[in-house]
Amino acid sequence: MSEEKLSFQAEVSRLLDIVANSLYSNKEIFLRELISNASDACDRLRYAAITQPVLSAEDSDFRITLALDKKAKSLTVADNGIGMNRGDLVANLGTIARSGTAAFVEEIEKTEGSLGLIGQFGVGFYSAFMVADRVEVSSRKAGDAQGWRWVSDGKGEFTVTATEDAPARGTRVTLYLRKDAKEFLEAARLRQIVTTYSDHIAIPILLEPEGKAGVEMDGEAERVNSAAAIWTRPKSEITDEQYKEFYHHVGHTFDEPWLRLHFKAEGVIEYTGLLFVPSTKPFDLFDPTRRHRVKLYVKRVFITDDCEDLLPPYLRFLRGVIDTEDLPLNISREMLQHNPMIAKIRNAVVKRVLGELKKKAQKTPEDYAAFWNNFGAVLKEGLYEDSGQCEALLGLARFRSTAGDGLVSLADYLGRMKEGQESIFYITGDDFDSLAKSPQLEGFAAKDIEVLLLTDPVDEFWLPAVGAFENKPFKSVTRGGTDLGKIKAAGDTAAAADGEVQEQAAGLNALVAFVKLTLKDEVKDVRGSERLTESAVCLVADEGDLDIHLERILKQHGQLNAAAHRILEVNPKHPLIRRLAERVGESGAGEDLEAAARLLLDQARILEGEPLADPAGFAKRMSEMMARGLSE
Ligand code: ADP
Ligand code: MG
Repeated sequence: MSEEKLSFQAEVSRLLDIVANSLYSNKEIFLRELISNASDACDRLRYAAITQPVLSAEDSDFRITLALDKKAKSLTVADNGIGMNRGDLVANLGTIARSGTAAFVEEIEKTEGSLGLIGQFGVGFYSAFMVADRVEVSSRKAGDAQGWRWVSDGKGEFTVTATEDAPARGTRVTLYLRKDAKEFLEAARLRQIVTTYSDHIAIPILLEPEGKAGVEMDGEAERVNSAAAIWTRPKSEITDEQYKEFYHHVGHTFDEPWLRLHFKAEGVIEYTGLLFVPSTKPFDLFDPTRRHRVKLYVKRVFITDDCEDLLPPYLRFLRGVIDTEDLPLNISREMLQHNPMIAKIRNAVVKRVLGELKKKAQKTPEDYAAFWNNFGAVLKEGLYEDSGQCEALLGLARFRSTAGDGLVSLADYLGRMKEGQESIFYITGDDFDSLAKSPQLEGFAAKDIEVLLLTDPVDEFWLPAVGAFENKPFKSVTRGGTDLGKIKAAGDTAAAADGEVQEQAAGLNALVAFVKLTLKDEVKDVRGSERLTESAVCLVADEGDLDIHLERILKQHGQLNAAAHRILEVNPKHPLIRRLAERVGESGAGEDLEAAARLLLDQARILEGEPLADPAGFAKRMSEMMARGLSE
């Protein structure tokens, strides 16, 4: 059969350019990547063979073999795992299926090949091109007669050819090493790399004596790893480094783990878990197709990394394994769905993870803040998805607030509530800076009442679902009344003398009535404001209506057409409003007063970051008003 030439997916080409030209000092990690893939391939075949024993019947001793050829300057990594057919080779070694890769490539190009990122992300198979200028992959898929050969120099194209020279089953990756990578032709160097990065691999890694290649066992090869599933070993015998290397392998991620949980449950259900929380945020954390990355094993046999019920989506940042004794080895994917045993394990593991997070939050709040900044927005999904853990999650939640730069807990907030304050006040928006300047916060600032500043889209969803914390309702400062009058505050400058207040009120009522008449159905209502102290106007939502920010999010997503009309609040203490109130009293309606009413509404819209309905009209009125002001 003839050779077929194919191009890499554009993203892969860009990635390969970065990889080949990177001065990444840790080039040796290519071996970890190839061994990791070989181990995954064996795991997958072992699982497939549970239902189709013929697949591995002829050779069921899974192993990974390393072989050197100094003359050809090549290093071979071979496995007798599941193997790849033509389609697999093209799809797996020609594209990048992993979500988040596009974002990664963009990020790395922006930062001009930031090496830390390569290390963190892990370029998988393609890391072979850090040390090789030509890579050959020969593979025969378990159960197939035909073998295939994939060859590339990593420069835009690769070829695929049918071949007789493939392993009996599995994959053989041969690297023709670059001049600057000759060190990887030394057996001692390979031994050292394997013990550093791949000791935890649960199947034997063998080093062939020079001049032999392939996976055929002949008893001469030297075993280089200890090959025991790390989670089955006693904690005291495992070093931090070993844990870390396992985390890199199992998580396909390359940062430092932020938290490690290694536990064994015995009793009604028996399982072992080794779980990690990463210290950096994956690029695809909010990709809707992303699932958790915890692998399910049954009695040391890999079953799947795709068991949706094993952990809830709001813990999708976890990596690691759960290995249970209590499921049958031949469990199918269908049987895993709604499986009561899995549900029990999930509940217990969720409790354990949240318990551990709570400890971290109490013992090392600063360290916890780093975790929260990475994954808080994900954890908050649990507030409406998992009512059983809502209490625990509210305890773990942290927020920015008007009280300072740090993160506060709800307990902190409750402790600082003012006399007469019944609600937990919050405001939602896109970013802290503009939120902190919202006019709706003025009255709260004047009374030194703390307001939570919420900027995650998920906040709009859990707040209405949760409703309250320790019987104190959550209340948006941009919706409904404020009850500010009922709250006593230390620095409260007592209300002005009664007479003045009433006099003001009379003028204000006339102004409010006039503005309402002028703006007609452009606003739902107009009223005097309790929450403003500095600004003249602001918009708020009515008690039963959608919060302004949520409405904007829904509008952006095209889920909402007509905005529920806003309430325009005017600040009775503001000089502009007082002057306007006087004018309404003196001269009644007039064209310039109408223009003023419209300008008030437009001003409030601008403050809210909302587009103006009639920008040309706004500019005209504004110019006329300014011209008049200047000529007086
Ligand atoms: P990852 O391992 O994170 O999926 P890689 O770039 O390391 O990404 O590998 C890409 C894909 O190529 C793997 O997901 C797998 O499907 C396939 N693959 C790589 N090496 C092997 C192998 N030795 N045997 C079978 N499949 C392999
Ligand atoms: Mg890999």
